[in-house]
Amino acid sequence: MNDKMTYDAIVVGSGITGGWAAKELTEKGLRTLVLEAGRSITPEEDYVEHVPAWEMKFRGMRDRQRQREDQPIQSTCYACDEWSSKFFVSDKENPYTTDPDKPFRWIRGRQVGGRSITWGRQTYRWSDLDFEANLRDGIAVDWPIRYADIAPWYDYVEQFAGISGETLGLAQLPDGKFLPPMEFNCAEKVVREAMAKEFGRERVLTIGRVAVLTEDKGDRAACHYCGPCERGCITRSYFSSVNATLPAADKTGRMTLRPFSVVHSLIFDPHTRRVTGVRVIDAKTRATMEFKAKVIFLNASTLESVRILLNSSTTEFPNGLANSSGELGHNLMDHIKAGGATGTIPGNEDKNVYGRRPNGVYVPRFRNVNTKHSDFIRGYGFQGGARREGWERGILQAGFGPEFKKAMRQGGAWKFTFYGFGECLPNHDNFAELDKGKVDAWGIPVLKIHCKWRENELAIQKDMAIAGAETLAAAGARDIEPFTDEEPPGFSIHEMGTARMGRDPKTSVLNAHNQSHDIKNLFITDGGAMVSSSCVNPSLTYMALTARACDYAVAQMKKGEI
Ligand SMILES: Cc1cc2nc3c(=O)[nH]c(=O)nc-3n(C[C@H](O)[C@H](O)[C@H](O)COP(=O)(O)OP(=O)(O)OC[C@H]3O[C@@H](n4cnc5c(N)ncnc54)[C@H](O)[C@@H]3O)c2cc1C
Ligand code: SF4
Repeated sequence: MNDKMTYDAIVVGSGITGGWAAKELTEKGLRTLVLEAGRSITPEEDYVEHVPAWEMKFRGMRDRQRQREDQPIQSTCYACDEWSSKFFVSDKENPYTTDPDKPFRWIRGRQVGGRSITWGRQTYRWSDLDFEANLRDGIAVDWPIRYADIAPWYDYVEQFAGISGETLGLAQLPDGKFLPPMEFNCAEKVVREAMAKEFGRERVLTIGRVAVLTEDKGDRAACHYCGPCERGCITRSYFSSVNATLPAADKTGRMTLRPFSVVHSLIFDPHTRRVTGVRVIDAKTRATMEFKAKVIFLNASTLESVRILLNSSTTEFPNGLANSSGELGHNLMDHIKAGGATGTIPGNEDKNVYGRRPNGVYVPRFRNVNTKHSDFIRGYGFQGGARREGWERGILQAGFGPEFKKAMRQGGAWKFTFYGFGECLPNHDNFAELDKGKVDAWGIPVLKIHCKWRENELAIQKDMAIAGAETLAAAGARDIEPFTDEEPPGFSIHEMGTARMGRDPKTSVLNAHNQSHDIKNLFITDGGAMVSSSCVNPSLTYMALTARACDYAVAQMKKGEI
């Protein structure tokens, strides 16, 4: 590697979207430098999904003192446990600030693969109900694309990643190119059948669509249901950059991957009005260096990419590079969750499940699809599933002695839970800016994030509890408990929207191909590009947009436009 050499392309970040950019650009012939702030990952050493609790220093109960000091924010995420905390950032080294009354939980991974190692792998297509939503409701700006523009790219990324799921024929949740679906357990079958009777096609229960192989695919093996995917996957059964896209990019011989490369800012040439390269701080030595390329893809994640651009201000762009619209950093969204219901599904006490299915069930959006809800616009979907209560119920159940222990070894009742994931509206006042008074461990100014749930999101969350309970009641559940909890934005880890696409350069940062309106050889294809948030998990859409943007960028380079 050579900091004097000019690459064809630089990709910043190697997470879900950076991995795709690396694969697509190298496969299309570009010599591509991938700059990753974190360390490299060696699956044979770093993946720990098969390490039992008794081999862990704290027996799987976490090093709570260390986490309190070093990861007080990250450790609020379910996946940041004793095994996987190494795949989450140090909050001490990577601080950010918020208003005291507006907490934002920013969950991050800083290593080769980014959060693709720990993600939940739920993958759903967006539909025109989503792409037309802003125009229909007169909110923010219109998406510059429609489902037809992205559908072939969904096909493309799904076939490479390997998505298992069931086709449903629902307009609001388009079907994809699926591998065979995973199976429901017996209690989920009860709920599915009862919902079909009560709600017909209006409220459908399906198995989660998930980026996990249910049959072998090339040198990646079908999942063997060991369960804790957020710790890695030595059989490469689930999709991650480390398991799938980066090896493909590597195979071309045209990728140079440089870990420990913290991109500080981009270099802009005012004469050509192009970005010419990036300024990098070596994370270990603190040495500074520059790398040059003909085209730059920012894939450092929704908020980190914005931070790089805000730190790249010039006289032409005093408020952040590529920010003539003034929208950079604004319109931050996340999905609202923490609303739903739980209940007991009677029967089937003689049945159990074997193996740990790394997936749950899904109820596609049913609010504001064919009828209008009086309290809110947009909607939500339910994730969740059924499981037998385990020995932990003994904490609540009185008893002692051998009989009690024997009873606790048997499975308890079948508990079913619906957890809502709701759409968040884009709002200019939800935004991130530079906090010039604070720097990270590498001396780079950090973000100050201003974001809160507003009326529509809170109305959606309230309805999750009502409809969740109603649906469980229809399935004959007992002991139904609706719930809503207060969780700050960020907690769904679906942050997006800070460099939105749009038709008009005055009101958006990117055009319909994720290309900066201001700077033709700059592309942002992480969640920053999103114009609205839909209610489904977003990463599949980021992947499809990335592959589409790479195709466009290379075509433009061939035409001499970039
Ligand atoms: C526990 C968990 C569960 C999730 N479940 C789901 C799910 O089920 N479905 C779904 O769709 N999404 C899910 N997500 C979200 C998903 O992981 C993200 O949407 C996705 O990873 C975003 O991809 P990205 O490439 O933008 O960012 P990331 O994957 O976060 O990658 C960004 C990379 O950029 C690097 N980077 C950052 N700053 C710099 C810099 N200055 N210089 C160089 N490199 C830099 C980082 O180190 C990182 O490797 C989940 C996330 C988590 C943590
Ligand atoms: S459950 Fe399947 S996908 Fe998850 S780590 Fe185990 S083998 Fe891999």
